Amino acid sequence: MNAPADKNELPKPSNFLRQVIEKDLEHGTYQQRKWGGGPGDAQHHQQGTPDPAKIRTRFPPEPNGYLHVGHAKSICLNFGLARDYGGVCHMRFDDTNPEKEDQEYVDSILDAVKWLGFSWDANGTSHYYHASDYFDFMYRAAEYLITTGNAYVDEQSADEMRHNRGDFGRPGTNSPYRARTPQENLARFREMKDGKLADGAAVLRAKIDMASPNINMRDPAIYRIRRATHHNTGDKWCIYPMYTYAHPIEDALENITHSICTLEFEDQRPFYDWLLDRLAEGGLISQPHPRQYEFARLNLTYVITSKRKLKALVDEKHVTGWDDPRMPTIVGLRRRGYTPESIQLFAERIGVTKSDSWIDYSTLEAALRDDLDPKAARAMAVLDPLKLVITNWGEVMGSDDFLDACSAPVHPHDAARGRREFKFGKEIWIERTDYEEVPPKGYNRLYPGNKVRMKYGHVITCTGATKDADGKVVEVQAELVPDTKSGTPGSDAVKVKGVITWVAAADALTAEVRLYDRLFSVPQPDTSSGKDYHEELNPESLKVVTAFVEPSLKSAQRDEKFQFERHGYFVADLKDHAQDVPVFNRAAGMKDSWGK
Ligand code: ATP
Ligand code: MG
Repeated sequence: MNAPADKNELPKPSNFLRQVIEKDLEHGTYQQRKWGGGPGDAQHHQQGTPDPAKIRTRFPPEPNGYLHVGHAKSICLNFGLARDYGGVCHMRFDDTNPEKEDQEYVDSILDAVKWLGFSWDANGTSHYYHASDYFDFMYRAAEYLITTGNAYVDEQSADEMRHNRGDFGRPGTNSPYRARTPQENLARFREMKDGKLADGAAVLRAKIDMASPNINMRDPAIYRIRRATHHNTGDKWCIYPMYTYAHPIEDALENITHSICTLEFEDQRPFYDWLLDRLAEGGLISQPHPRQYEFARLNLTYVITSKRKLKALVDEKHVTGWDDPRMPTIVGLRRRGYTPESIQLFAERIGVTKSDSWIDYSTLEAALRDDLDPKAARAMAVLDPLKLVITNWGEVMGSDDFLDACSAPVHPHDAARGRREFKFGKEIWIERTDYEEVPPKGYNRLYPGNKVRMKYGHVITCTGATKDADGKVVEVQAELVPDTKSGTPGSDAVKVKGVITWVAAADALTAEVRLYDRLFSVPQPDTSSGKDYHEELNPESLKVVTAFVEPSLKSAQRDEKFQFERHGYFVADLKDHAQDVPVFNRAAGMKDSWGK
């Protein structure tokens, strides 16, 4: 775990999953289980030792894209519950689809889980599994279902099957193939396996109840014919298990106790239990078998969380890649400046519920601010620079070239972290918005005749400004008020209302600053009727500026986070930042400013 120990020791807010687990632990539901050292059938586990894991959960992604913030919720939940209750969470690739597995996706998923601070190593074992390793067992279990009259080969056309399934108001109709004997079914299923039937010519179906009010229980398909090479098993199989059949078996072989999934699988739970009950009766899997629990998936405003649509944004070059800092992918969030701790904190705060809702993006940003505030070094930066000239500098200091040494704490609440040093001089960079020729009501910053404090520096009195031919202010002038330097005796004798941030022209570093904003300009993209999500992209999601930053940032390392005073949290870009060409990304503003 990356999170500081003190955070872990705080009591976690309870939720229905914690209550289920606590009850199971209290009742010893899984206490008698044995663990065979790795996944396996009932016999394999029976020969093992008492399971060293009090509970087992799993994170089962399909390796077909980069993980996003929704997956992060699931990772924090599954690995977090295992950690909190003396359990183990398995890392399992759900690769039962014979689509080509992309190593890029596999690597990125493993990296994302590790980066979030979790590990699948426990009790000396690496709990890293592939669903495709269980194909042999899945086949065996299918033959068992057939011989016990619980499955049959259906050769209706896809259209007939769809029609005969019925719908919400209409019960299904039995297939003419439903009455085949187990012997006939077994022979036919073996022909399916042996490649004697064409793709789509038949499916194996569980034999349950065509009149069930739950359509998922109307004899769901469990195996299909598909001639495709699998990255793990090659051409060994031309039949592949359906997800709804494979998933409960994967859980059972791995001794999973609590199989946590998103709400859309709620209607599948009766089949999950039906299947595992049959296999447990036959002594094929250990008991008690896993139980499925559903929670609401994360919907985050201003982003989309669908691997397929995120991939489209990448392919169509609306973003620079999966790790574009505007992307809600874990690699994108990381590059934006999110820390593992901030994402864990976010996951904890949103909790788990049983009904769908939207979480406001500001909740994610607030978690980042709360995590970074005590950690991030402070720095001054001027993002929209305007020159300020101290006209009496030479007169007061003895020379126009004189540079006055100033300093500020690295962190305002942690003196032990030392001080940052920078200079004050005749020429200073200030924010363009810190000068107004005619101040609006309540404006306390620079305008002719007003005094302000240059933070950690001197008090100055604004005397005027120079404009170009277009009327744009190109330089502001001010006079130093002597004996007002911060930290010197009597420096606060002159009262001011405004304090502004700045950097001296003499020692400022030039930096590229990428001002990221929300990827979509509407809170719930891809939900409003008739609008394509492409039209909802925020055209101003990235603004690149040339900024001046204080010299302490010379030593900034890639991925290092800072609070630019007044501006918010920034990170030295993970890919493009270099000491001689500094690049900073805005992770989050100082406070929620969206829509204000
Ligand atoms: P996507 O639709 O983005 O491709 P998925 O559900 O198909 O997502 P999987 O790789 O199958 O992606 O997901 C792995 C795990 O992450 C599953 O257990 C799934 O329930 C969980 N998960 C996916 N999206 C979310 C989400 N938005 N909120 C919470 N959990 C999620
Ligand atoms: Mg999926």
